[in-house]
Amino acid sequence: GTTRPQVRIVIVGHVDHGKSTLVGRLLHETGSLPEGKLEMLKAVSARRGMPFEWSFLLDALQTERDQGITIDTTQIRFRTRSRDVVLIDAPGHAEFLRNMITGASQADGAVLIIDALEGVRDQTRRHGYLLHLLGVKQVAVVVNKMDRVDFSAARFEEISDEISAHLTGLGVTPTAVIPISARDGDGVAERTPRIEWYDGPTVVEALDALEPARPLETLALRLPVQAIYKFDDRRIVAGRIESGSLSAGDEIVIMPAGKIARIRTVESWPVTPVNGIQSAGRSVGITLDRELFVERGDVIAHVGTSPRDTRRMRARIFWLHDKPLAAGASILVRLGTRETRANVVAIEKAVDPGELSSVETKAIGRNHVGEIDIALAQPIAADPYTDNPRTGRLVIEVNGRIAGGGLVLSVDAGQRAIP
Ligand code: GDP
Repeated sequence: GTTRPQVRIVIVGHVDHGKSTLVGRLLHETGSLPEGKLEMLKAVSARRGMPFEWSFLLDALQTERDQGITIDTTQIRFRTRSRDVVLIDAPGHAEFLRNMITGASQADGAVLIIDALEGVRDQTRRHGYLLHLLGVKQVAVVVNKMDRVDFSAARFEEISDEISAHLTGLGVTPTAVIPISARDGDGVAERTPRIEWYDGPTVVEALDALEPARPLETLALRLPVQAIYKFDDRRIVAGRIESGSLSAGDEIVIMPAGKIARIRTVESWPVTPVNGIQSAGRSVGITLDRELFVERGDVIAHVGTSPRDTRRMRARIFWLHDKPLAAGASILVRLGTRETRANVVAIEKAVDPGELSSVETKAIGRNHVGEIDIALAQPIAADPYTDNPRTGRLVIEVNGRIAGGGLVLSVDAGQRAIP
């Protein structure tokens, strides 16, 4: 059949505002539950004299996943009219952040959930910040538990205005703000009479309207070099293609040195490509048509679309370390396969995501967000994350531990950039 665009989403929001309930509902409304599952859980609840909770579904699926029963052991998926939606786990806060920051799981969109009675809380604002930090641009807001406020349009408007102002201030315009009752189903897949005053999309429609990420293979080639292997007199440059594609004969440039060569052969495992082309996501080994100095940490790109080489960059980071990050700090920066010592030249912004008001500029505290200027000990090849979501990300280590990470906002023009 035809391939449907896939979108990866995260559902975030204050604890108890209804994330699991919404997921249960979405699975049900989109017909994504295994046969008989819902009836079984309802019967179990009745037998135990407990009211049925939609979140049981998620728990049950989670348990099966843990026990390895279900076939798809990695992610929860469902289909809307034209999209395959993959729900990225957001279990522990720090774990989720780490995954997002290191690019292990990049979300195309997010659902931010708010309890209609409780309204916008610190954690809600903080999650908004995190989505901004992580570069998630498409955010649908759902105002849940509308049944607890008698489906009041006025209450909905109040929350909608407050969260929209907050998100817009961060440069994230909500794609929709949707009144729902995840428990009862209003607004999830249907506009029910209780929300007849609302004429925007349902949650399912909002998810269906998400733009999928540009396929990585359509971006410029980025092959961060992992290792060089020597077999007899052949030198094989190995790495994972993060974006774009390559084939034998291509004219490439090795960054940051800026040396140019042609790809002689493309070797890969476990299978050699049929048409000779290898693209994003594949691990490859290539040989070049001349002897050039290549080392781990270099980035191979096509001539004309190479990354800049730089010693200076601005990054937006999330800080995880106990000791706040201050100007003058010596850090280790990991970008692609390169590691280099660096110095924090300036803290441009330091914000507590929960407290919009307290903007400090001296140091970035634990769990805070900031923008920093970094001077690198050696030139590296880097892309702003808006150009390349894979290579525009960095991780910061202190004493061998991940201390933070984030997005490359801009790089200073390099001396050796190939036009
Ligand atoms: P999570 O912590 O964000 O995953 O929240 P849960 O989905 O576990 O929901 C927390 C509680 O809120 C549970 O007791 C749910 O039954 C309840 N809840 C969720 N959605 C609704 C809703 O639309 N209306 C009402 N009245 N309660 C809800």
